[in-house]
Amino acid sequence: MPELKIRDLHVSVEDQEILKGVDLTVRSGERHALMGPNGNGKSTLLAAIMGNPKYKVTRGTVTLDGQDVLAMPVDERSRAGLFLGMQYPSEVPGVTNSDFLRTAINARRETPISLFKFIKEMDRAISELEMKPDLAHRFLNEGFSGGEKKRNEIVQMMLLKPRFAMLDEIDSGLDVDALRIVADAIGECQKETGLGMIVVSHYARFLDYLHPTRAHILVDGRIVMSGGPELIEKVDGEGYDWIEKETGVKA
Ligand code: ADP
Ligand code: MG
Ligand code: MG
Repeated sequence: MPELKIRDLHVSVEDQEILKGVDLTVRSGERHALMGPNGNGKSTLLAAIMGNPKYKVTRGTVTLDGQDVLAMPVDERSRAGLFLGMQYPSEVPGVTNSDFLRTAINARRETPISLFKFIKEMDRAISELEMKPDLAHRFLNEGFSGGEKKRNEIVQMMLLKPRFAMLDEIDSGLDVDALRIVADAIGECQKETGLGMIVVSHYARFLDYLHPTRAHILVDGRIVMSGGPELIEKVDGEGYDWIEKETGVKA
C-alpha cells in the first residue's frame, strides 16, 4: 500500500535546528491532523518534504513507497505524487490559473490532457468549491481574497490528483460556510483518489468535518503526542499547556 514515511527528520533553517527528529507514517486513505502551538515546525516539516531549498535536512529520511524523496528534485517530488497546499499561497502575476494548472498536469503525463477534459475538470472543481467562474482566467492568486487563495489550493489538488497531500492551515481565512465547502471538496477528492493526507489546522470545527483518522501534536520540533480524534477535542477545550506539563517539552 502507498506509504509516505518520515523517519528521524531533522531540519534546519538558516543554521537553526527547527525539526529535531520527526517520525510519521501516512498511508493511502488516512487523514492525519497535525497540530501544535505556533512556531514549532509544522510548516517547516511540510516545506522540507516538498523540497523548499530554505529548509535543510540534516538527518533522517523521507520515503514514498520506499523511494528516497529527499534525493528527488522539487518537480520530481510533485510528479511522484506529493502536493502541498500552502499556508500563504503566492501570487503569480501574468500566469493565468488555468495555464498554470494545465502545465502542471501535463508535466506529469506522457501525453497532454485534452483541452476538453481539462476544462470539464476545472469547471467541476470550481463549482464544487463554489468559486466564481472567471477564476480560471484570472492570474494565479493575484488579487484573490485570503479565502479564495485557500479554495484555489484545493482546486489545484483536485486537478493534480496527488497520492499524498499536505494541507497547511488551508482553513485559515475561511468563513463558516466556506469551511464546510472546502472540507467537503477535500473529502470528495479523497473518496475518488484514495489520497493520504497531513492536515495542519488549529480549528476543531474544520477537523470535525474532515474526520481525521489520527492526530499528532508537534512541539519544539518533535511529535510529542499522537492519538485519535479525541486528542483534537482535548486540545480544542484545553489548549496546549497540559501537553507541556505532561511531556515536559516546552513550546
Ligand atoms: P509553525 O508552522 O508550527 O507555526 P514554522 O515551521 O512556520 O512553525 O516555524 C518554525 C520556526 O522556524 C519558527 O521559529 C520560524 O521563525 C522558523 N522559520 C520557519 N521558516 C523560516 C524561514 N523561511 N526563515 C526563517 N525562519 C523560519
Ligand atoms: Mg504558524
Ligand atoms: Mg505554519
